[in-house]
Amino acid sequence: MTYDFDRFLRYDEMAEWLRALAAQHPNLLTVESYGQSHMGRDLLVATITDRRTGEHHTKPAHWIDANIHAVEVTGGVAALYIIHHLVTKFGEKDATVVEVLRTRTFYIAPRVNPDGVEDALADRPLFHRSSVRPWPWRDGHRWPGLHPQDIDGDGRILTMRIADPDGAWMQHPDEPRVMIPVGPLGAPSGATRYRLLTEGLLESYDGFTIDQPRDPAGLDLNRNFPAGWGVDVLGSGDHPMSEPEILALVRAVKARPNVCGYNAFHTAGGFMLRPSSNLPDSKLPPEDLFIFKKFGEHSVPLTTYPVHSVYEDLTWDKSRVMGGAGDDWAYDHLGVYSWTTEFWDAIYRATGEHSPTDVWYVGPTPTQDLAVCHWSDEHAPGSYLPWRKFQHPQLGTVELGGPDMFHIGRMHLVRCCAPKWRRTPTLLSTRRWRRRDSNQTR
Ligand SMILES: [Zn+2]
Repeated sequence: MTYDFDRFLRYDEMAEWLRALAAQHPNLLTVESYGQSHMGRDLLVATITDRRTGEHHTKPAHWIDANIHAVEVTGGVAALYIIHHLVTKFGEKDATVVEVLRTRTFYIAPRVNPDGVEDALADRPLFHRSSVRPWPWRDGHRWPGLHPQDIDGDGRILTMRIADPDGAWMQHPDEPRVMIPVGPLGAPSGATRYRLLTEGLLESYDGFTIDQPRDPAGLDLNRNFPAGWGVDVLGSGDHPMSEPEILALVRAVKARPNVCGYNAFHTAGGFMLRPSSNLPDSKLPPEDLFIFKKFGEHSVPLTTYPVHSVYEDLTWDKSRVMGGAGDDWAYDHLGVYSWTTEFWDAIYRATGEHSPTDVWYVGPTPTQDLAVCHWSDEHAPGSYLPWRKFQHPQLGTVELGGPDMFHIGRMHLVRCCAPKWRRTPTLLSTRRWRRRDSNQTR
């Protein structure tokens, strides 16, 4: 089987590809299972080193994992690409790769959350925040409100728009597929205003209120690590390491005390994140901060990705921190310098400019959104869909269209609990729809 990193592999294909690659490179690459997922899939880790200069555990090692978040499949492809890059460049006698595999080991777990990814890549996709395990209820009880899903069977989860005189959105004057917020002075006269909702069905719909559970309510495996864990962190699970994927990952890293670097691969944003998620830089040891910044000075020219502290730069509400994340665990508990790479920045591709870090909270500007739409028409056709009428089983006639965020690269708010891009009405109306924040219920 050949793979050119031009598509996303389903689990069985990925496992087959990895095992075939290992069979071709027995002196460099081994693939083993370090546990089972909630649904019983093997959790795979690739070990890469030149065994002729010593077994893997005798060398300092860098740990990489990917796809703890179900929809962030670009990070998973990057992990597979690195595995492939290391073994093929070694074969081509690339001096850097030969030296690095002579003297170091890589452990790469390309799919921490195989169950969630499998749903995201299904013909009729289902997007989980992370784990597929029902939570906090085990009995299948679902949060009241909107549950994003592909309701018309086209394999996409788009936006539903509903004309409403109190709607907070209107069409971009130059591009109907792009929706822009109605400003504080209101819409221009004659403009149609809309409500926007993610394509999906409503649970416990009373015919009036559309709850929007924080995106999406459920377990987040990257809040289940035992550092900074808390019941007040949304989606953190029953207790630290309550989830089999995280318990297995923690045990796997702990069992490899030669690991001295940790890197989690995510999507999207186009930046490198470093600890802490729950402490200001003033509370970190200054020596560690110095080293993190030195690393950053080297990595930015290589990657173009700026480096940010999660707490300082990406946490708007400092009382709602993103504890329990893998990078914090590696740093806090193991003393390992750790990073989270947020691959892919569609806005940067379209405009050549990095967005301020609050883009996770406020979304793109109308100018950026339009630029991404035009860029994707050329480079990723089918990313922005025209609006078409659809008979929604609960809401009546709606229109489906707008950006396919899974396709163009998610401005997905996986690390935070902030409102999702164009999910939150900026003006509330009791006329037809009312948003009630159900977050407080947990
Ligand atoms: Zn993520």
